[in-house]
Amino acid sequence: MKLENYEVHLPNYSIGDQIYDKIGPVCESYGKKVLVIGGKKALAAAYDKIEQYVGQTNLEIIGKEIYGENCTYATVERLRQMPLYRQADMVFGVGGGKALDTVKCLCITDDKPVFAFPTIASNCSACTSVSIMYNEDGTFLKPHFFVRPVMHSFIDTQIIAQAPRQYMWAGIGDTYAKYYEATISAREDRLEHFTSLGVAVSVMCRNPLIDYGRQAFEDHKKGLCTYDVEQVILAIVVTTGIASIFLTKDFTPDYNSGLAHAVFYALTSYPVIEEKHLHGEVVGFGVLLALLVDRQYEEFEKIYELNRSIGLPVSLEDIDITQAQWQECVERIPGMSDIAHYPYRVTKEMLDEAMGQLRERVSKDYEER
Ligand SMILES: [Zn+2]
Repeated sequence: MKLENYEVHLPNYSIGDQIYDKIGPVCESYGKKVLVIGGKKALAAAYDKIEQYVGQTNLEIIGKEIYGENCTYATVERLRQMPLYRQADMVFGVGGGKALDTVKCLCITDDKPVFAFPTIASNCSACTSVSIMYNEDGTFLKPHFFVRPVMHSFIDTQIIAQAPRQYMWAGIGDTYAKYYEATISAREDRLEHFTSLGVAVSVMCRNPLIDYGRQAFEDHKKGLCTYDVEQVILAIVVTTGIASIFLTKDFTPDYNSGLAHAVFYALTSYPVIEEKHLHGEVVGFGVLLALLVDRQYEEFEKIYELNRSIGLPVSLEDIDITQAQWQECVERIPGMSDIAHYPYRVTKEMLDEAMGQLRERVSKDYEER
């Protein structure tokens, strides 16, 4: 084995319903002038609270900007040309994945201090060191990896608890996927310390969702910021961020993906997926098939029950995909890059068998009710 030579920067974060009072102690050493950049709805939800807490510090907000519409290199460049950006000592990024990914790509590249204020819990952008870049037409371009995540994330659970429920709902599917994809992809590999940590941490992307997912979803529907909601937010935003840092070595995300994501990406060739469904929602469906292909029947049962209880998809009908479209996907999935590194070759026959078993499970469910 080769000796390991690498640096790693872990996410720093505060979490709670009263944690914006940490803004002063954390950010004041980076300068004075703050530019706030975020999504439109995110700023509407969080800006007043940020401004109120910043008022109690030595910091000064010099501007508030809407980041744009999507995380593209053109959006990043437009923000970079703003005089206010050049004057700012630091940037506060406010929003969901696309807004945070945009400010990360802008500031980490320029080595300007950047802080994240996530307002929804659909992904781990606030705690990880990659931005997902899109083309101008809205299609996926590529992941852009950085040497570090933001300087610190302020995860306000009160604001997140009051966000539209579908984001956390979909985030749950993408989060438990991390555990199954990491453990299956890494099976039988001799892992160095770095990747081993990622695989070990990934179990925390599963356990809290099994334990608290259902109650958290119920509480979140009512806008309540409870212990269960907090545990699920931690899993989606923090644990997944840490796991994905450790699972990406030398910019090769071999252990960061797997069959559930291959299913998702194969399905994205049908516009209905982007139009009517969320990434994590469809990935959560893909996990069901991945577990059946992997013959993890007990785990399948747990995730099936979780999906059923919170309304995540369990059938093709749930994601508006026809049998004929699925048959086309079955042809493409075995060749997809997400399963290029997998402990076995995924075949069409395996996918057909898994889909048959899933159908049977769903019809048994209907008979029982
Ligand atoms: Zn994903």
